Amino acid sequence: MASLAGAGLLTASVIWLSGGAPVWPKQSNLQTPPPVASDKPDPSPLTFKNTTRVDEEGRQIVTNPADVLVLVNKTRNLPPDFVPEDLVAPQVRFPFTAHEPRRFMRAEAALALEKLFAGAEADGLRPYALSGFRAFERQYAIFAAQVQRVGEAEANRTVARAGQSEHQTGLAMDITSREVGFTLTVDFGATPEGKWLAANAHRFGFIIRYPEGKEHITGYSYEPWHIRYVGAEIAQYLFTHSLTLEEYFQQKYGFGVD
Ligand SMILES: [Zn+2]
Repeated sequence: MASLAGAGLLTASVIWLSGGAPVWPKQSNLQTPPPVASDKPDPSPLTFKNTTRVDEEGRQIVTNPADVLVLVNKTRNLPPDFVPEDLVAPQVRFPFTAHEPRRFMRAEAALALEKLFAGAEADGLRPYALSGFRAFERQYAIFAAQVQRVGEAEANRTVARAGQSEHQTGLAMDITSREVGFTLTVDFGATPEGKWLAANAHRFGFIIRYPEGKEHITGYSYEPWHIRYVGAEIAQYLFTHSLTLEEYFQQKYGFGVD
């Protein structure tokens, strides 16, 4: 499949004016899922600096959790009660049959994932989706279990704390393959599916969120399996310039790399 993520997705993406600030499309695009309601309206890009508040315990909490470009990492937490309102199960291959929340993504990301899978299949590959949406409570349990297993320092390097996982945004999906036994392993990056993903995810609006060599910026070890939806234009830009989402925000808005 040679086309990009589809006209609907492209029109839903940020439109860049020459040398100026991005302009967000109006909400009347019928091909775009309705915006997710939140306590506050999404910020204009010019106020991206102001997308966190500090909670009682001194943590930064993002105020734009439903934004397709929301930046979530070890310093920028999602609100504990944030659950996207437009979660759907993409019609792609999973290595399990149960109907579980981890099948879900936000509608726009799910549609893009379906196109990505169609593109991979057209190239003779068989990726599997393993884990998408994950609620705050589930992430809390996963982190606690990992601390029990390997200790807090190692857990912190490889597993997100509750509120710091992109899976809670509904914009991330972990991809695997039969060759690696449907697990999440660095070896996936050397498989045909892993190589294809690294070379093509951006065409469908996704980025490899934790690339090799950027651990000191993202705070996470290399994860060839974790893709994050950011929209086709930003994904293309990050791919072309080999930037992480943190570096992109730093470059555009002066924050992101701590
Ligand atoms: Zn992941």
